[in-house]
Amino acid sequence: MRNDSIIIGGGIIGLATALELARCGLRVTLLERDQVGRESSWAGGGILFPLLPWDYREPVTVLAAFSESLFQDWAESLAAETGIDPEFKRCGMALLPPFDESAALAWCRARDYPAERIAAASRLPWISGGLPALWLPQVSQVRNPRLLKALRAKAEAMGVRVEERAEVTGWESSGQRIRAVATPRGEYAADSYVVCAGAWSRPVLGKHGADLAIEPVRGQMLLFKGEPGALPCIVLQNGTYLIPRRDGHVLAGSTLERVGYDSGVTTEALGRLLARSRAMFPQLTSDRLVRQWAGLRPGSPDNIPTLARHPLLENLYLNGGHFRYGVTMAPGSARLLANLLLGREQPLDMTPYGWPSRASATPRVVV
Ligand SMILES: Cc1cc2nc3c(=O)[nH]c(=O)nc-3n(C[C@H](O)[C@H](O)[C@H](O)COP(=O)(O)OP(=O)(O)OC[C@H]3O[C@@H](n4cnc5c(N)ncnc54)[C@H](O)[C@@H]3O)c2cc1C
Repeated sequence: MRNDSIIIGGGIIGLATALELARCGLRVTLLERDQVGRESSWAGGGILFPLLPWDYREPVTVLAAFSESLFQDWAESLAAETGIDPEFKRCGMALLPPFDESAALAWCRARDYPAERIAAASRLPWISGGLPALWLPQVSQVRNPRLLKALRAKAEAMGVRVEERAEVTGWESSGQRIRAVATPRGEYAADSYVVCAGAWSRPVLGKHGADLAIEPVRGQMLLFKGEPGALPCIVLQNGTYLIPRRDGHVLAGSTLERVGYDSGVTTEALGRLLARSRAMFPQLTSDRLVRQWAGLRPGSPDNIPTLARHPLLENLYLNGGHFRYGVTMAPGSARLLANLLLGREQPLDMTPYGWPSRASATPRVVV
């Protein structure tokens, strides 16, 4: 079968992009090195909001807001069409001190983003002492592994060919065009190629990605067993968040570690996350701990992803480097990449998401 487009990488960005292109009528093949949806996208928490948006530059919050505006319909139609419910829920988030209250309120006011100063105890009754909090009722969440399953099912139903254990190991080019990609199963050719390989985007691109500043940033998470409804909303304090799932499980995260491609877990992070989780919600004792895991985020300078065509190769694109917010940004990034590839008008100024270079980038991890 002749492909219109080949997607490289089967995380949330690759699946969302494949589905969007298939919806536009393209014949798409997705090549995944190992198994679809097992890396960063599986490991993530699924909060659909840039935790402290007032700390980020506009291109992060603009893309996140565009994507959030698509999310509910996207998740609910996936649930209806596949029977796999990604559990989208507008559960709200309570932000506990310390945080920059005037910056937070100014950011929310400027965007008409609902926010309210509350006593933390009004939402989290176990917190005493009149601690104040910022209540953000619009903040939503999704259950990543289910979203990934639903995306795969829908993409395949739309005709996307998903090839697992098909690692892209090289590029065949001719003039200013990619002619084919090499995999251990042979060559695959298409009119266009979209790299969605997350933290591996630079090594996958080889010499074609030498200028990119995308680097792995490890994040560790804990999962606790709990009673449904016991934790009523997402809670964020001092960089640690708790996310309640519908069935009572609570996720606690996360760490930000520059350790290369090491996706192992550590006892140090376990101890720190356990102590912080328990301080925020005393029910999270070690006997309720179910699992610890880690994922490698595709870290980018200032958290700004790249949604762009290669500067020299006219049929090679990158949708990558979403760092801490790739789940939040997935439907929006897929839409924008499809518009770019098909020459359609864009709803946003795409300049900030252009192909970056190491020389121009000043890496800065915002915690
Ligand atoms: C602990 C943690 C918590 C997070 N919490 C949130 C959150 O609450 N909200 C949010 O929005 N985001 C969150 N994130 C970030 C989010 O998960 C990532 O930004 C997102 O998953 C990136 O998606 P991706 O598809 O680009 O990468 P990945 O999911 O890593 O997918 C890349 C895929 O490319 C494949 N690949 C690599 N090399 C090749 C090759 N040579 N050939 C073929 N395939 C290849 C890989 O096997 C992988 O499947 C979190 C991340 C972590 C780790």
